[in-house]
This record gives sequence, structure tokens and C-alpha cells, in this order.
Amino acid sequence: MRLIILGPPGSGKGTQAKLLCERFGMTHISTGDILREAIRNHTPLGRQAQKFMDGGQLVPDNLVNDIVAERFRRPDRPEAFLLDGYPRTLNQAEELAAVLRELRVAADAVLVLSVPDDEIVRRMSGRRICPSDHSLYHVTFNPPKVPGICDLCRTPLVQRADDKEATVLNRLRQYHATVGELLEFYRRRNLLREVNGLGSIQEVFASCLASLQLEKDKC
Ligand code: AMP
Repeated sequence: MRLIILGPPGSGKGTQAKLLCERFGMTHISTGDILREAIRNHTPLGRQAQKFMDGGQLVPDNLVNDIVAERFRRPDRPEAFLLDGYPRTLNQAEELAAVLRELRVAADAVLVLSVPDDEIVRRMSGRRICPSDHSLYHVTFNPPKVPGICDLCRTPLVQRADDKEATVLNRLRQYHATVGELLEFYRRRNLLREVNGLGSIQEVFASCLASLQLEKDKC
């Protein structure tokens, strides 16, 4: 299966993406993860992306389009994949469509997780990450055993610069400004599957599976 998952930052896209990839054996391609890794490794891409990401802005289309195109043009390109956090603009959707056309494959569906903005702010401002092993916590929903300390390696947890409240609000504004035309692009192609992103991880996963019933039967 070939999927795209969309939704505001903090809607649980990454979590659902991992579960869906495990269930259907898809390769998880997250542009956010690729960019964060580039920043950690101080690569030229990381240096270019960091100033945009720390401010909650989108990284320019040409940079992310190149990352994704390179991933798909490699000899070991995945047959089954889930794109998480890409595309985010109409330009990216058009570029992706062109790359997939070139490879003679097509997306089977585009899942959109809907979560209201106030819930997003509540979720994201409590998110904490271990700077050493990158495991994720939440002060309310998934707290570490000792507050502020990673369960696995005992490193003090930190808040990602782009999870701070002002940045989250910026990212939400950004999302609402660009998502409309993206949804329209996929609605016209009859690929859009809207999923309620409120509820437990397993409830949202069940809704994702239900929305994919048709595609699953085809595989
Ligand atoms: P994410 O982990 O998907 O929420 O992405 C974190 C940050 O990476 C975003 O706030 C953007 O700054 C950047 N980013 C990730 N994917 C894209 C994309 N497709 N287009 C532009 N910027 C992106």
C-alpha cells in the first residue's frame, strides 16, 4: 500500500504512521525526521533547514522536494511507503505526483487527521524528548517514571524548540494557510480519507484502518 498522512503538527501523524507501517509493511518516510537528523549531523541540508524549523516555518519547497525525489529515485526505493509530513504545500503535492508518475506508481489514499487547535496546543506544549536516544514523552499523557528524566538512559529531557507554545501557534497558522488547497488537490483525485484524530492511539488507529478498508481489500 502507498499512503500519505496529513494533519496539523501534533495531531498524532507520526504515531499513527508507525502503527500503519508495522501493520502493512510500509516504509515510513518522514521529512521532519529526515530534516532533524540532518540538523543533528550538521549537514549542509541541516544548516539550511534549522533556521526555518526553529521558528516554526516551513522549509522551502525545493529543499524538501529534493529530499523526497532522491529517496524515490534510489535503486532501493520502497515499493510500499507511507509519507508523513510531506507534501505540505500544493507545489510539493505537484512535485510528488510528477515523481510518482515517473516511477509509474500512485498513492492509494491520503489520510487526514483532524484535531482542533486548542487540543493541539495542549498536546504539544507538554511534549518532551530525550536529546540522547530521541524517545518521546508527554508530561500528562506519557510521563517518564521520574519527572524530567529519560526512563531508558537517565538523560534530562528537553522541549524541542519547535514544540514551544509560540512556535506551535506559528506552525498551526502555517498549516491552516496551506492545507486547504492541498486537501482540494487530493479530494479532486478522490484520494482523501478524513479521520477523527481525537481519542486514544488505538481508537484513532481503528478509524484509520476503517477509512482504508477499500484500499486494504485491494492489496
Ligand atoms: P514534522 O515533524 O513533520 O512536524 O516537521 C517538523 C518541521 O520540519 C516543520 O515544522 C517544518 O519546519 C519542517 N518540515 C517537515 N516536513 C516539511 C515539508 N514537507 N515542507 C516544509 N517543511 C517541512
